[in-house]
Amino acid sequence: MKRNDISNGNRISRREFFRTAGAGAAAAAGSIAAAGCGRISERTGDSGFGKGAMTFRTNPGTGDKVSLLGFGCMRFPETEAAEDGNIIDQEAVNRLIDRAIEGGVNYFDTSPVYCQGYSEKATGIALSRYPRESYFLATKLSNFSNWSKENSILMYRKSMENLQTDYIDYYLLHNIGNGGKEHFMARYVDNGILDFLIQEREAGRIRNLGFSFHGTRESFDFVLGMHEKVRWDFVQIQMNYADWRHAGERNVDAEYLYGELVKRGIPAVIMEPLLGGRLSKVPEHIAGRLKEREPGKSVASWAFRFAGTYPDVLTVLSGMVYMEHLEENLQTYSPLAPLTDEELDFLEETAVLMMQYPTIPCNDCKYCMPCPYGIDIPAILVHYNKCVNEGSISEDTGSAGYRKARRAYLVSYDRAVEKVRQADHCIGCGTCVPHCPQGIMIPDELHRIADYVEKLRLSF
Ligand code: SF4
Ligand code: SF4
Repeated sequence: MKRNDISNGNRISRREFFRTAGAGAAAAAGSIAAAGCGRISERTGDSGFGKGAMTFRTNPGTGDKVSLLGFGCMRFPETEAAEDGNIIDQEAVNRLIDRAIEGGVNYFDTSPVYCQGYSEKATGIALSRYPRESYFLATKLSNFSNWSKENSILMYRKSMENLQTDYIDYYLLHNIGNGGKEHFMARYVDNGILDFLIQEREAGRIRNLGFSFHGTRESFDFVLGMHEKVRWDFVQIQMNYADWRHAGERNVDAEYLYGELVKRGIPAVIMEPLLGGRLSKVPEHIAGRLKEREPGKSVASWAFRFAGTYPDVLTVLSGMVYMEHLEENLQTYSPLAPLTDEELDFLEETAVLMMQYPTIPCNDCKYCMPCPYGIDIPAILVHYNKCVNEGSISEDTGSAGYRKARRAYLVSYDRAVEKVRQADHCIGCGTCVPHCPQGIMIPDELHRIADYVEKLRLSF
């Protein structure tokens, strides 16, 4: 079985890949020796703060011992909105974070735009109950709509205030890639903000400077090409067994992204290990296949093991709204049981099977919200994907399962999305499109879904 097609076009085994990638990393380390870059090392057990058998990876640049499971703070448990509009259930967040820390998790990733702008504050409240040196904070410069230097600096300082800290361990330029080189230059270089952040790193207020990426290979290569000058301390990429070789036109294969980071000795932080939840809600026959191999393990655990198996991964982020998801992930990484070559082949075959299901690559991040016309974009797309996976999409009115599929789709659609917020109310203004990190042509997809629903309704 061939795997790991790194830039020279030769296919090599996973072990060979890790070995040669290590050599590449070592070579890269030579040219950036001053940066202290090298290979990530791994150990299992207590980091000094958490308990249990969590696997930890050591950042070669700083010596940080980072838990392989990172806590993604993009989604938090919700409750009734407070007067200021904050819908986060702080007590539930505290309980989750307490349990995560108890289980050894010490990396927390947030952004000024997560949870309608309330994530950083909630993260800060929960973590401020612990010694500052016992956890690593990651947040981002999410200057999507106003990238003036003044606004960007304001956003950076506000993050520190919200997180109740005077330094940030891992600071990211948020979601670079879409919009191309010109957009990147405008958001970060021409306005002088990248120079400012480098100075902040020199002053010790930023310990690691990196970026998170969605977009084209050209944009990735361009920004990574700045490494010698900027010194990227880490890079956050979307990596899972479906995107490894099947990212499609809207994204870049994770195999390429990861390989380029390894060559340069840059630690990878992984986002979307579950592909926005789609790798935990796979079609029934695929779930059966995974369950048959590991009857005691969840479908999602395969995806987490995949992401953790690659040794230059520093941490794998997971948004854990429910305690059972956190418990399951703690179990998966305490300690990690790396996948064998044969299991990696099995997951590649699984990814190929999944490609037959035409889901929309929405990860429910909600960056496209709010829609000025009230459309609940993520709910519509997530519902559609769920129906694709469950097999309740049927175009063929003459087929045996059509009536059942029709009813299942219509009933669950009305439950999942209020009528006034459904796809048929989208006027196609396009306001949402530039905010989508997955590059989804949202109005096109909504109109397609609206047409499909209309057809279902009329076909009674
Ligand atoms: S294109 Fe549709 S969904 Fe997007 S902002 Fe406009 S009305 Fe809302
Ligand atoms: S459509 Fe795009 S921006 Fe909106 S929730 Fe889905 S992935 Fe996020």
